[in-house]
Amino acid sequence: MAQLDRAGQAMKLESFTLERMRHPKRILTVSVPVKMDDGSIKVFEGYRIQHNMDRGPAKGGIRYHPQVSLDEVKALAFWMTMKCAVVNLPYGGAKGGVICDPKKMSKGELERMTRRYTAEISIIIGPEKDIPAPDVNTNEQVMAWMMDTYSMTVGYACPGVVTGKPIEIGGSLGRREATGRGVFYVTRELAAREGFDLSKSSVAIQGFGNVGSNAASIFAEHGAKVVGIADVSGGLYDPKGLDLRDVMEYRKTRESVSGYPKAEHVPVDKFVEIPCDVLIPAAMENSITRANADKVKARYIVEGANGPTSNEADAILQKRGIQVVPDILANAGGVTVSYFEWVQDMQSYFWSEDEINARLRHIIVGAFTEVYDLAKKEKVDMRMAAFMVGLGRIGKAVSIRGMYP
Ligand code: GLU
Repeated sequence: MAQLDRAGQAMKLESFTLERMRHPKRILTVSVPVKMDDGSIKVFEGYRIQHNMDRGPAKGGIRYHPQVSLDEVKALAFWMTMKCAVVNLPYGGAKGGVICDPKKMSKGELERMTRRYTAEISIIIGPEKDIPAPDVNTNEQVMAWMMDTYSMTVGYACPGVVTGKPIEIGGSLGRREATGRGVFYVTRELAAREGFDLSKSSVAIQGFGNVGSNAASIFAEHGAKVVGIADVSGGLYDPKGLDLRDVMEYRKTRESVSGYPKAEHVPVDKFVEIPCDVLIPAAMENSITRANADKVKARYIVEGANGPTSNEADAILQKRGIQVVPDILANAGGVTVSYFEWVQDMQSYFWSEDEINARLRHIIVGAFTEVYDLAKKEKVDMRMAAFMVGLGRIGKAVSIRGMYP
């Protein structure tokens, strides 16, 4: 809300649009009863929020996490509306979540929860209405169960109802790596515009989920020096650069980096303070806050996660001259390839991985250029510029459509 107000005021956004953006279009809360492996019944609480649908169907992921809350899902749905507008995809924004701890659930329990949750939200989702995708703790398998459940109720295979699916049932090549790849394209473009050499720069990546792990591999592949990585158990730091293949191999058997012998260990809450040129928070919200923003040593922050920088931290970073490429631009690669997946599903015609990556690069670099140039022209930070670009598009759509009735 604070971000929206700041940008709305700066660009003198019509109060009609600003007011509309403050309120999600639809909020659905569902009870998800699940038969657990021990025979008991547990009822989980789930949400699906469609924030805005003025520019097209709603789009956004599904999160499974103990800390999911209605407020969190609202903020995430709002950011999806902004993200799709910044990269100019013909979508509005949505988000869903279930309060649960997937790490403590069996595969069977997860499948039953996913299927019942999908059935409960099936009254508002659909390929022309609202298209879920993976987010924190959901993956291709979860999307396959969602696609299957929805398809069973409509009576035919309906791949376009979710994105981030396995290739065998209408998924897209390149989707799994897309968010990390987008983060890389944005950072490379930033380096070109700011005049620093990415191959001589040090990069630290917080988060080892889909975004962080793929970003780490892609940066390393392109010769960047990854000096730090972190998962929920803690971080690793080596100023000479980590041997990522070795770390990943180690992590495969233990599911965490803790105990890795060939690097310095950094506690989770100190990770954003390690020395590096580019810091990529790719874990959860609020990892950079008022408490640590003045200890960040990076010159640039590229937000792989949604909302990793609190509003207060943003002001501190700006004062310190640390440039932030905002989430709604930096991590938009995921939803961009989700859009490609949906287009391919609707046409039942599939593209090559090279074509997907080239189109992804084109969209991400184009959006970055627009935001970067606007930030320079208006003398604002990139978050403000991204909001201006996104809100400009949404504002036009809202006012052309007018208000019903
Ligand atoms: N969960 C991802 C995000 O926050 C992807 C959403 C999508 O592909 O629809 O952008």
